[in-house]
Amino acid sequence: MPGAANATSAQRQRRVDAVLDRHGNSPTELVQILREVQEPEGWIRPQAITTIARALALPRAYVEGVAGFYSFLHLTPGGRYRIRFSDNITDRMAGSQALLARLCELLWVERGRTSEDGLVSVDTTSCTGMCDQAPALLVNGWAIPRLDAARIEAIAELVRGGQPVPTWPKELFVVDDNIRRRDILLDSNLAPGEAIHAALARGSGAHREQASNERSWREAIEIEPQGPRAVLEEIKLANLRGRGGAGFTTGLKWEACAMAPATPRCVVCNADEGEPGTFKDRVLLNSYADLVFDGMTVAAYAVGARHGYLYLRGEYRHLLAHLQAVLDRRRREGLLGSGICDWPGFDFDITIHLGAGAYVCGEESALIESLEGKRGVPRNRPPYPVTSGYLKQPTIVNNVETFCAAALIAVRGGEWYRSIGTLRSAGTKILSVSGDCARPGIYEYPFGTKVAQVLADCGAEFTQAVQVSGASGICIDATEFERRIAFEDLPTAGAFMVFDESRDMFEVARNFVQFFAHESCGFCTPCRVGTTLLAKLMDKLAAGLGSPHDLAQITDLNSLLQAASHCGLGHTACNPVLDTLKRFRPAYERRLLTPDYVPAFDLDGALARARAMTGRDDPGAHFGVAEDAAGGAAR
Ligand code: SF4
Repeated sequence: MPGAANATSAQRQRRVDAVLDRHGNSPTELVQILREVQEPEGWIRPQAITTIARALALPRAYVEGVAGFYSFLHLTPGGRYRIRFSDNITDRMAGSQALLARLCELLWVERGRTSEDGLVSVDTTSCTGMCDQAPALLVNGWAIPRLDAARIEAIAELVRGGQPVPTWPKELFVVDDNIRRRDILLDSNLAPGEAIHAALARGSGAHREQASNERSWREAIEIEPQGPRAVLEEIKLANLRGRGGAGFTTGLKWEACAMAPATPRCVVCNADEGEPGTFKDRVLLNSYADLVFDGMTVAAYAVGARHGYLYLRGEYRHLLAHLQAVLDRRRREGLLGSGICDWPGFDFDITIHLGAGAYVCGEESALIESLEGKRGVPRNRPPYPVTSGYLKQPTIVNNVETFCAAALIAVRGGEWYRSIGTLRSAGTKILSVSGDCARPGIYEYPFGTKVAQVLADCGAEFTQAVQVSGASGICIDATEFERRIAFEDLPTAGAFMVFDESRDMFEVARNFVQFFAHESCGFCTPCRVGTTLLAKLMDKLAAGLGSPHDLAQITDLNSLLQAASHCGLGHTACNPVLDTLKRFRPAYERRLLTPDYVPAFDLDGALARARAMTGRDDPGAHFGVAEDAAGGAAR
């Protein structure tokens, strides 16, 4: 904002007050308030934290703690231009590191630091979801893809000239869809609202009269074969499974929410697409937003919800204005708001919540915490969100693609949908294809399609490995390319990263490990410490200082993370290393300082007695072991 840095404290105070007013001084809006307060200056001043804490009646330390949790919120000043290079392995393969170094050189700034004059800071951030047009960066939160030497020169010139980002040439910010293969979903061509009309058409006249209160909604679910119950049955018949990776049956999730006694209920669309290598939701939100919102509205009808949230990842801020415009149009067209499609009592609206840079918020309970204005730490479960989610309301959280598929099912029917794909994986899957291939982009396939088919279609040659489903997914080698994209074989949230024979698979795994260490939310010690230890271990190997003992340590770390981590991030953090170690072991072994080195001192052995006494190896047997040990000592 022009002049923001020179604003008087009274002007700043007025701006903070205006943001608080706009959000009704609501603590559940805290993340949005902090993001908007930060907007003019790129950081949040201590005085603003105090004002926010007072207005929301929250402890100041709590507000500071929330701000400190998110990568895109800052409590100290950075450069007036804050530049972050996307640091996924596909960005690196496309030359991001050399371009980052070049930009630092042109701007006389050290990576990770702010320039002396406070003009600019340059650093990296986790994958920004532009792998099909890598390398990419964010400048003050706005995405610039397809970086090359000329673009870097142009960016440096704009920064040196002090040009405000909103006045930069528009073509720098163009993000392509790159849709390469369409199937039933991307080719559906449904009109806005068509899925809602189809869902309502399954309703009976009796239900239409009843639909004006939550209680009758639940009664309709329980006793009426038509109305919301008919929609639920259709989704169940379709055997639609969640497209975010876990693959839970959507119909069962919706039914559990609809049957939960508490009201109101809530619908949440998880558009926090943070898994490295995944960008399909970006395209769906850009070019199929009506289908997404139709799916959410159909879900609201099925479960009896009156409000929904789209949780949009901070990296996709460029989509925010477009999505808001689509929502406004839908309100004007009677597809959102009161009495949707002239259906009395069918009231539903959607709010967009913009994330602030936290991969862990892709986990549904962490996402709900963030929606409530808190740090995005995963909750203990049960209770599950379907019975106690957003503000303890029964809540369904589904992926963007899942809602699109639900809209399609509402129109074409469950029987038709389940006839596509495989027995256990109905319908199609959209893949985000990137890496070493001629045609990176979005590909939609029926479930059951072989990896080899995808590789042929995207123009991949001399492929040695594919990372399916991102950093937390699975790495397969050339002997496995006959495997199929399906929940029963290779489940995926969408990422499909291709590596040809020139790539060093050790460096691929190292990049993913660094990602997990950076994104660990720090809530539980095994994950916070374990992911850092793993990253350091990989650095040691990269420096040529490793030994076979270090490789064995990876398995131990994995056991620890599997057993003691609170959420999926910790559980899967070792996967990239274990997968590549199994399939590409020479990439590790050639880095060992001494291939046959065995430590002279066995630290584990030396500590075994102490571990037994404290019961650390077997918490369940703690007392028995301790007693035995004590007895032994007495003897
Ligand atoms: Fe946070 Fe990691 Fe624990 Fe998950 S496992 S709660 S990301 S520290």
